[in-house]
Amino acid sequence: MDLEADLAVARGLDVDVIADAIESIGFECTRCGKCCRGLDGEDHTATIFPEEIREIQRDGDPEWSAIARPMPFGLTEADDGTTTGETFEWALQTGACGDCTFYDADGEKCSIYDRRPLLCRTYPFSLSIGDGEAEAGSMDSVVDREGPVRAHECEGLGRDVSRADAEELAGTLKERAIREREEAIGVRDNYQPTDVDGVVVHDSEGAKRPDGSPIGSEHS
Ligand code: SF4
Repeated sequence: MDLEADLAVARGLDVDVIADAIESIGFECTRCGKCCRGLDGEDHTATIFPEEIREIQRDGDPEWSAIARPMPFGLTEADDGTTTGETFEWALQTGACGDCTFYDADGEKCSIYDRRPLLCRTYPFSLSIGDGEAEAGSMDSVVDREGPVRAHECEGLGRDVSRADAEELAGTLKERAIREREEAIGVRDNYQPTDVDGVVVHDSEGAKRPDGSPIGSEHS
């Protein structure tokens, strides 16, 4: 996979073309909350970037682990409940019932709406660039496609969308596509094997513990 080539493609995306596709597919959020909740016994799983975690920390200074958890894919859980392994992304933290920790079930809304991650801002859409369907960014499958735009399962699809809203969403999708590739390049370039016990998250800034604290070079 040539990440630099994919990044160049992402930077060159035509927002008007993406907006055309979104208009063609159609979308209006019904506020059903399904994209914020754990479903079918599975915890909610959505990518969040390190700087997005810090952006949420700005308001009230919550701890890193109150916002994000290591993406569980690739980690191993032992019989005694301890988890070990390396992972390469952060996921939005979940509550006891498996929903996103920021989902207000009583109010049926996101409690950090203005600072929600790019993945949340762009759901149910994603862009396919070079790596096919790899960036679905959610637990479900592609249900519609228009050029590079992929639509994932959502009851809001097929509804009328204004040109202004389609263009705003298209711009955010492009921003996400660029950020995803910048993050992947950062992870690749900053990866250093560690001998630290437990879980290690390798993000674009280096290796971190599950609480977000950097792992020092003395462990590499
Ligand atoms: S951050 Fe907000 S929009 Fe994103 S999954 Fe959580 S509750 Fe939903």
